[in-house]
Amino acid sequence: MDTAQPNNITSENLAYSRLISLINSMADGVIALDKNVRVVLFNGAALNILDVNNIKEGDYLSNLLQPIDKNNQPVDIGSLIQQTTIPTTNRDLRLAYKDGSFSNLYLNIAPVHLGYGKSSQEGYVLLLRDITLEKSLEEERDEFISVVSHELRTPITIAEGNISNAQLIADKNNADPMIKQALKEAHNQVLYLADMINDLSTLSRAERGKLTLEVEPINIPDLINDLAKNYQHDAQIKGLKINTDIDPNLELLQSSKLYTREILQNFITNAIKYTNKGHITITAKQKKQGVELSVSDSGIGISKIDQEKIFDKFFRSDDYRTRQVNGTGLGLYVTMKLARITHADISFSSQLNKGSKFTIFMPNLKTNIS
Ligand code: ADP
Repeated sequence: MDTAQPNNITSENLAYSRLISLINSMADGVIALDKNVRVVLFNGAALNILDVNNIKEGDYLSNLLQPIDKNNQPVDIGSLIQQTTIPTTNRDLRLAYKDGSFSNLYLNIAPVHLGYGKSSQEGYVLLLRDITLEKSLEEERDEFISVVSHELRTPITIAEGNISNAQLIADKNNADPMIKQALKEAHNQVLYLADMINDLSTLSRAERGKLTLEVEPINIPDLINDLAKNYQHDAQIKGLKINTDIDPNLELLQSSKLYTREILQNFITNAIKYTNKGHITITAKQKKQGVELSVSDSGIGISKIDQEKIFDKFFRSDDYRTRQVNGTGLGLYVTMKLARITHADISFSSQLNKGSKFTIFMPNLKTNIS
């Protein structure tokens, strides 16, 4: 339809035919729709993805594209598109073909003004790509990480227990300081491995959409006091003090206990790792619809440039003081994933050489607070 050349060659027509050749040369499927989600224009790649020989101008997209979601439920493509107000990308839709095969679809929906000059009208432009291969590689990678991290847990726990015992025996028998030092180093590295496996396992579950949310009443003072007690030893070794500042009017928080704990743990371990002098303070304040938790430290701080990247996957600062301690660069990335699942908001402030403060507002996920 739209690839037909205009009769009289005006500059507008020329520009239009250039646009058509450009769209036809694209490897991704392109479909332009009017505001009622009817096809105005398409390219050859779109035919391939939809597995049809032709599309008639004015065809409703919903007659051509019937995607299904992750749970194999049909998705109303017309409503999905009409609800889109800003350019949006979806990588979770699938297409089922008549021969029983499936493909994974990359779908970008952009609301636009269609057409040229006076004929301009409201509508949408879709970009479509078959990402079946990419998706299966991603799934294989996540599956691999999940299996490996699961399988490594037991041997690492056993190794950690045995090294701890060996340390006790070495202390008791007044062993050679070199042996004690070697055991200490081995213990630290095993703990680091355990942390890394934990982060990788949470990450792979998050990326495979396998993290479920179990909301329960959380006693925040108990949780904070327990964490402060658990990390007291690590802090003391570095000469740091852990303070707590807990709002006396704190109510039970309705959220995931597991994830709230994991988020706070990530903030606290970072505060200890990146602070060489001073203190760490864990604060909890009652807010109207939830609890605001924060962990502040008097540590090395984060430079302005690094501040933009600290939530990126595998990011670690190049600051030599950061590199002196073990880390995977996954902690804050995982924390952000957990915050999304619990509908929490993270913010932070930091000044190089002065310290950092990480704050999270955890909303009540149920209104029936007991
Ligand atoms: P990791 O601590 O394993 O390197 P994270 O994702 O937890 O990874 O943190 C990413 C980076 O952010 C750290 O490497 C460090 O550079 C910086 N960072 C995080 N928390 C702090 C903190 N409290 N003080 C200084 N730097 C921090």
